[in-house]
Order: sequence, then C-alpha cells, then structure tokens
Amino acid sequence: MHFTPAKTPVFSVTLPELQLNFKEMGLPAYRAKQVMEWLYPKRAKSFGAMTNLPAALREQMEAAFGFEALELVRTVGSDDSTRKFLFKLEDGSLIESVLIPASPALYGEGSDRRTLCISSQVGCAYGCKFCASGLNGFSRNLHAGEIVGQFLRVEELSGERINNVVFMGMGEPLANFDNVMRAISILNAPWGVGLGARHMTLSTSGLAPQIRKLAEQPLQIRLAVSLHGATDAVRNQIMPVNRKYPLAELLEACDEYCSRKNQRITLEFILIDGINDSLEQAAALGQIACRLDAKVNCIPYNPVEGLDWKRPSLRRQDVFMDALQRTGADATIRREKGSDIAAACGQLRLQVSRDATGSEAE
Ligand code: SAH
Ligand code: SF4
Repeated sequence: MHFTPAKTPVFSVTLPELQLNFKEMGLPAYRAKQVMEWLYPKRAKSFGAMTNLPAALREQMEAAFGFEALELVRTVGSDDSTRKFLFKLEDGSLIESVLIPASPALYGEGSDRRTLCISSQVGCAYGCKFCASGLNGFSRNLHAGEIVGQFLRVEELSGERINNVVFMGMGEPLANFDNVMRAISILNAPWGVGLGARHMTLSTSGLAPQIRKLAEQPLQIRLAVSLHGATDAVRNQIMPVNRKYPLAELLEACDEYCSRKNQRITLEFILIDGINDSLEQAAALGQIACRLDAKVNCIPYNPVEGLDWKRPSLRRQDVFMDALQRTGADATIRREKGSDIAAACGQLRLQVSRDATGSEAE
C-alpha cells in the first residue's frame, strides 16, 4: 500500500526545506532559491541543466533527488475541448488528469480560465456506488511531487498555462491530507508555481473531521462537497462514507468551514435517475444549501461501463432544477460540452486496465 520512491521527489520539496538542507551542507541560502528558479519558472528537466550551480552540487542533487517520471500513456480529447491525460507513475500505477478549457457556459464569454482536474490517490477507498475511481479499490496515496507533477506535465504537454486547479480527479484528497496540503503549498508558493489559493478547489465526499482540520489551514482554498443525496437514506444508499459521517455531522463541519474561512462552499450533486432526482430531494437539497449559503452545482450523471446508474431525462432534470431553485437556493446545472470526459474521472484508467493495452498515445 505504501510506495517509497527511490530518491526524494524534487517536486515534493519546499524552499525552506531545501534552504535548511543546504545550510547543513554549508551552502549559502541563495543556492536553494536558484534551484527553485530552475524548477518552476524555468521548468528545468534535470540538475545538469542548472548551469549556475557548481558542478559538485549538481551531482550531489542528482544523487539525492529524483525528477517526476509521469509517463504519458494516452490522451483523449482535442485541443479545443476537454483533454484527458493518462499517466504511468514510477511504480507503474496509472492516474488521470483532465484539462478543461475556458468554457463560456461556465465562466462567461472571453474567459481565459483553464482548469486542471488533478488526482490525489491511485484508486479510492470510499467506494461510492456510482464512481469509476473506486471500482478497483484503493492502491496508494500520491506523494506531493506526483500531484505537483501533474500540473507541470500537463502544462508541458499542452503548451498552455493552467490558472485553476480542482482536486476532483481520482481519489479522496482529504484522505491524503498531508501530501495534498504540501502540494497545494508548492502550487501556491511565490517561489513555486504561484497559483492563487482561491484558484484551487478541493472536493471531498464528506470526511467531516478532515473538513474541520482543513478549516484550520491558513490558505484560502475553496471547498466543494460531493453531497449527491440530501437525506441520510439516499446518501447511505450510494455513498458508504455517510454511514461513518452522517449528514448532520457533515453539515456541522461545513458550517465550521464557512464561518472560519468566511467563504461560500459548493455542493456538488450528480443527478442519478430514480435515485436522488425526486422533488423531495430537491426540496431537502435546497434547505441544506440555504442553511449553508452554499452554491449548488448539479451535474447530470455520466454513465460508467459496468454500473447500472443512469442520467435522468432532460425533462426530469428541468423539473428537479425548477423545484430546487424555488427554494431560493443558488443552483446551476452543468451541461456544457466536454463534461462527458471531465466529470467521469477514473473511467479512462478503468478502461485501460480492463483491456490491458494502453501502451501507445492516441
Ligand atoms: N473524492 C472526491 C473528489 C473526486 S470525485 C469527491 O468525491 O468529491 C469528483 C466529483 O466527480 C465528485 O463529486 C464525484 O462524486 C463526481 N463523480 C464521480 N463519478 C461520476 C460520474 N460517473 N458522473 C458524474 N460525476 C461523477
Ligand atoms: Fe472516491 Fe470521490 Fe469516487 Fe467517492 S466519488 S469513490 S470518494 S473518488
């Protein structure tokens, strides 16, 4: 279950840590800054490229630190739509990252927002009944370098600048708390990627104690909660995590997050035919959203091969949205093009591991 890389992943290391490390070696602090300049603004691929460092130091670094090996196995999608990248990690594990281009439907005309959906674990232990990521169970946590590495690799492969990150790929980010927080701090740091905290959203299936822990963190990252059921009865049916942290406990943790951070959270609600799309659910969801002053993001379910769940008809979706909005809740439904690939994280990996091919990029 635990994976230890051969060398310390260089994209897991923070500037203060490297400065301390160099100090112990008797090196001046500015050397650590030089390394970070090579890694982030200049995107160096090896220590050999860091030409303003003494050769002996480059060799020492080479022996101690490893660059991330995120090998591209497959891409799906095109330049102007959502693109999904399947990566093979150092130990052969497969993960997915999804690049979502500016979407006028979501962000308005002229938006240059490009979002990367990042994975935080290999597989997922939470086994939500509708989700492809949990189907093969949990393998391991990603280390921070593998999380930061997804950002750097996708920018490199696409030639595009990413200005928004969502932890909505494979895995439960709050179950890999320390590595995810470390990655977020590196993505945010001025010496690192320099991405604003408000441009990062963490999505959780509802780990109440970890939501409280997140509320104590200094960074103003955004929180999205995968609700998918507005009563314990419905949530228990599709999300086993609800038996551990029932709605009352989850909503209390959300309350605490909102008040501590002075922030609005987003409630995600995938619409599954005959499961959570009744008028009663719409009313209960509206009540929760109003209590939390949360935004609600409804997403028609993306069918997963091998699972029986279906997306409701357009008419049923409209009736649900209408009832929800009548409660006064701030709710939208996401039906934009490209969501088919984006919202179904875990599916590409599942497909590749099922047919056991996937050695060439498409
Ligand atoms: N584990 C975290 C983050 C990853 S999942 C969480 O559950 O929040 C990101 C989002 O995609 C979640 O809201 C999840 O419920 C949703 N999702 C999973 N499978 C889906 C599918 N087949 N169709 C639509 N959304 C899906
Ligand atoms: Fe895990 Fe999230 Fe999928 Fe649930 S929805 S199985 S928590 S990745």
